[in-house]
Amino acid sequence: MMDQGPYYAVKMESGALGTAGGPKTNGNAQVLDWSGNPIPGLYAAGNAMAAVLGEAYGGAGGTLGPGMTFGYIAGRHLGTHISNH
Ligand SMILES: Cc1cc2nc3c(=O)[nH]c(=O)nc-3n(C[C@H](O)[C@H](O)[C@H](O)COP(=O)(O)OP(=O)(O)OC[C@H]3O[C@@H](n4cnc5c(N)ncnc54)[C@H](O)[C@@H]3O)c2cc1C
Repeated sequence: MMDQGPYYAVKMESGALGTAGGPKTNGNAQVLDWSGNPIPGLYAAGNAMAAVLGEAYGGAGGTLGPGMTFGYIAGRHLGTHISNH
């Protein structure tokens, strides 16, 4: 029966565990065009980039680790090349 409190609520939002597709990137987290050349100024990390392990999920940290790593790499690369764009 739910006619008597107290009641508790938790806000639920949708989230994505990981992706099995997305833009290809190089080691600088730069998004590559169809010819494999980096698109100046365009970076991707986390679920916005093609998963490092493709369709596999290696276990806990398999998505947060690359997401944090390539986000860091993208920020550093952009910071050192921003004058070129
Ligand atoms: C239940 C669950 C358990 C998980 N457990 C693990 C785990 O143990 N280990 C692990 O490595 N990974 C785990 N993951 C996966 C991990 O959480 C994700 O891979 C990771 O959070 C992706 O990071 P992201 O920054 O790419 O995307 P997100 O964390 O999804 O961040 C995207 C952000 O963009 C915001 N956003 C969306 N649209 C807009 C818009 N139009 N304008 C502005 N902001 C916008 C969203 O609000 C969100 O804050 C888990 C995921 C889920 C759902």
